[in-house]
Amino acid sequence: MRKPANGLAKTFDLIVVGGGAAGATCAGRLAAQNPTLSIALLEAGPSDRHPLVRVPFGLIWLMGSQRDWAYRTVPQTSLGGRCISVPRGKMLGGSASMNSMVWFRGRADDYDHWGPGWGWDDVRPHFEAVEEQMRPAPLRDPHPLSAALEQVHGGPPTPETVSSGPFIVNIKNGQRRSPVDAFLRGTNVHVLKGQHARKLTLTNGRIQGVETCGGDKIMARAGVVLSAGTIGTPQILMQSGLGPANMLRNTGITLQHDIPGVGANLHDHPAVAVHHERRGSGRGLTFAQLPLWALAPFQWLVSGRGPLASNTVEAGAFLSGKDGVAPQFQVHFVPTRIGYGKRAIGFGAGYYADVCLMQPRSRGSMTLGTDGAVQIDLGLLSNRDDRVKLREGLCALRALLRAAPFGQRSAPEVFPATGDDTAAVDAHIDARLGTAYHPVGTCAIGAVVGHDLAVRGIRGLWVADASVMPRITSANTNAPSIMIGHRAARLITQQIKAK
Ligand SMILES: Cc1cc2nc3c(=O)[nH]c(=O)nc-3n(C[C@H](O)[C@H](O)[C@H](O)COP(=O)(O)OP(=O)(O)OC[C@H]3O[C@@H](n4cnc5c(N)ncnc54)[C@H](O)[C@@H]3O)c2cc1C
Repeated sequence: MRKPANGLAKTFDLIVVGGGAAGATCAGRLAAQNPTLSIALLEAGPSDRHPLVRVPFGLIWLMGSQRDWAYRTVPQTSLGGRCISVPRGKMLGGSASMNSMVWFRGRADDYDHWGPGWGWDDVRPHFEAVEEQMRPAPLRDPHPLSAALEQVHGGPPTPETVSSGPFIVNIKNGQRRSPVDAFLRGTNVHVLKGQHARKLTLTNGRIQGVETCGGDKIMARAGVVLSAGTIGTPQILMQSGLGPANMLRNTGITLQHDIPGVGANLHDHPAVAVHHERRGSGRGLTFAQLPLWALAPFQWLVSGRGPLASNTVEAGAFLSGKDGVAPQFQVHFVPTRIGYGKRAIGFGAGYYADVCLMQPRSRGSMTLGTDGAVQIDLGLLSNRDDRVKLREGLCALRALLRAAPFGQRSAPEVFPATGDDTAAVDAHIDARLGTAYHPVGTCAIGAVVGHDLAVRGIRGLWVADASVMPRITSANTNAPSIMIGHRAARLITQQIKAK
């Protein structure tokens, strides 16, 4: 990728906004497929060249740092008005530079819900091409607790069937491998970091370019691809006057084109967790483990191994509900004590696991308030069925942890430790429910963009990121987002060449 020359070039053939999972992939592939075009990638955040990005365990320090947009939802009415944190990567690689590196394509039948041109047979070749570069592989050296999970249902875990064990991850030689490494580095894309896009400029329904928060105007001869993610992309569209007319009227933004679906259909995997703690159990801060942690940086530097090479969420499971058919719940397992309740930081060893609904029915929205600020309403558990299912999921998670042959490392549940009765489970859900950090759907295929990812009613504008998923995939969303970026480059190239 090219460093920008002194003095920002003001005109490119194509501009990609957002250098995250999908954007870095799309920009790199566009450059490879169109060597004569000049392509700029605008990223609001800084570089991904930071030790905490490379070190898999580093993600726990990236969250809440300057490299995190650190959004919060509006009060969630179904959770007693609690606000939930929504971390999103703000750097080259986006959330793919601070995620847990768990690799899943989703389930083949997920793509039946994405409409024509996005079925399993259409997307599979792109997953295959992406995986050739990303090289996901089984986690090296899983903790014995993570390894033991495999003995419950058999692994590696897959959303297609009830299964459990260590995950497949995008880690190479103990280091995070991101789509920036796989697709962007080595191309001639002009990467412009610290460039926060505010809005699009357009004339007579045709996109002219991008205006940044710093007041720069960057022009695009062939068009703009929005890859700013599930929150950032609808925000830019709305700030450009492209969105639901009713909502935009209240913000004072001049309507350019009424697109009712922008910001609608926001959803994520709702997740609820349990914590286990006992001396001699999993990783954590204990006197006995002080040498392990003191040596960890050297061990990682020398061999790429040790606790810092752990992606935190090392293992998990796919579990079915009472009806016992296809899996409905995904479990994430961390063989490390994580703060709980009022004991956020402190000594202790243990493990943590959460369970999420693979296909929630609840839907929320992303809008702008009258002051123009982003309002994220995940609508968590707004559909009652989700709460009923999640209660079932928590019981299934506890059964899994009871069945796991953890031996001497087994530890009692210390939080919430209230049992499976409905009132106790509901109280825990109300107080603690979060998400798996997989927001999708705010510019859905079929509603905002066509099957070619072009924004309906506007010329020279495409969306390529997790916001185009009409329905969430039945597992983690990074690989599907990279697949979208990969496929977008092909679709956009075809459209440009057809002109
Ligand atoms: C903490 C965490 C853990 C996760 N763990 C996993 C996991 O283990 N496995 C998995 O599959 N998925 C995981 N995910 C989810 C996965 O990373 C995302 O689904 C995926 O990265 C979404 O890709 P995207 O391209 O849509 O958005 P992103 O990757 O978030 O990229 C959006 C980019 O756009 C930039 N941007 C936003 N607004 C603007 C603007 N106005 N101007 C310029 N640039 C802008 C952002 O800074 C960012 O770089 C995790 C996410 C988080 C936050």
